[in-house]
Amino acid sequence: MKSALIEKFQTIFGRAPEILARAPGRIEFIGNHTDYNGGSVLGAAIDRGVWVALARRDDGQRRLASDRRGQIITVPAARILKLSGAKRWANYPLGVLAAFPSFGLREPAGFDYLAMSDLPAGAGLSSSAAIELSSALAFAEAAGEQPSREVLVQAARHAENHFVGVPCGVLDQGVSGFGKNDHLVFIDCRGPRFELVPLPPGAHFWIFNTHTKHALVDGFYAARHRECLEAAQALGVALLVDVSPAVLAANAGRLPPLAAKRARHIVEEIARVAATVAALRDGNLVAVGKLLTASHRSSQHLFENSTPELDFLVDALVAAPHIFGARLTGGGFGGAVMSLASGKFDEAAAEPVAAAYAEKFGARPEILHLQTGDGAALHQP
Ligand code: ADP
Ligand code: MG
Repeated sequence: MKSALIEKFQTIFGRAPEILARAPGRIEFIGNHTDYNGGSVLGAAIDRGVWVALARRDDGQRRLASDRRGQIITVPAARILKLSGAKRWANYPLGVLAAFPSFGLREPAGFDYLAMSDLPAGAGLSSSAAIELSSALAFAEAAGEQPSREVLVQAARHAENHFVGVPCGVLDQGVSGFGKNDHLVFIDCRGPRFELVPLPPGAHFWIFNTHTKHALVDGFYAARHRECLEAAQALGVALLVDVSPAVLAANAGRLPPLAAKRARHIVEEIARVAATVAALRDGNLVAVGKLLTASHRSSQHLFENSTPELDFLVDALVAAPHIFGARLTGGGFGGAVMSLASGKFDEAAAEPVAAAYAEKFGARPEILHLQTGDGAALHQP
């Protein structure tokens, strides 16, 4: 990947890059819709990501290229404006550039920039956070800045929230920034505070991406957000993180039935994240797997953000050999299922699951076998 990046940079810009950076994609491991309720979440940085190569220019021009689009985008040194159409992808690096001053960081003046990736975009693995973090590292290095990892993560998230305009939580950028091989990233979203938790050896991730997305997903997402805040208010707290499962059980009668279901998912999911950290520290992947599947059942029945496609995959996977557990990963209402498997699960074991899915839904899911990987870092050119 690195040599292909350098070669392509040379071909496009006619010279060698000065700076290389790479940031990984991520999997939401457990902690579904807990972020905006002030709760915690566990994520895994994966062994696929986005590379950025950069060389400074003296004329103030910013020229951006990507392996996904042929055309070079030239941005004058003046104000950074949002792009549309085929140039839309450049809003991720440009958004990072535009965010720098708000975090006390100087922007690099002119540069040539190339992004290259082995991470499928739009597969729920957060290629957007990966391109933001790798860009942020490369831009900071080009400007002679040495921001902390927290600042890089916040600047990348700021770009996605305010420039691109996607209201994501801190999971995507936090895991891409803080991830580490053979570890999961625990995030206390209220801080936010980041902590590494070792992943016991022999854990493999198998992702089954349905490529389905509910037409009303944005509206559903907003409705869940509102239902959670209303439930918290009715219970006399600002955020559901401040309600324990016991307190909720004692007070559920004060809530409308739907709000009580939503609140129960969040409160128990936050407890499941804590239980998962404990099971990981014990090296008990069987217990971790049970918590993952319990998370899915809660999404399915209480939070109601699953779909028949996702439920089918979870049912098929938990019935398959060598699978510890499975759950929908990400916002839900479509998207992908993540399963935690031992090293004995393989393509042959995945095939009957994919075939049964194709038989029922008329299309095969995309299957990805992933392992953990390192977080965002600069590399020697
Ligand atoms: P996800 O983050 O789940 O992959 P998003 O829709 O949030 O999905 O982000 C995907 C977008 O990120 C792409 O549409 C593209 O604009 C940008 N992107 C990702 N990888 C690359 C790349 N290698 N080159 C250019 N843009 C990329
Ligand atoms: Mg994204």
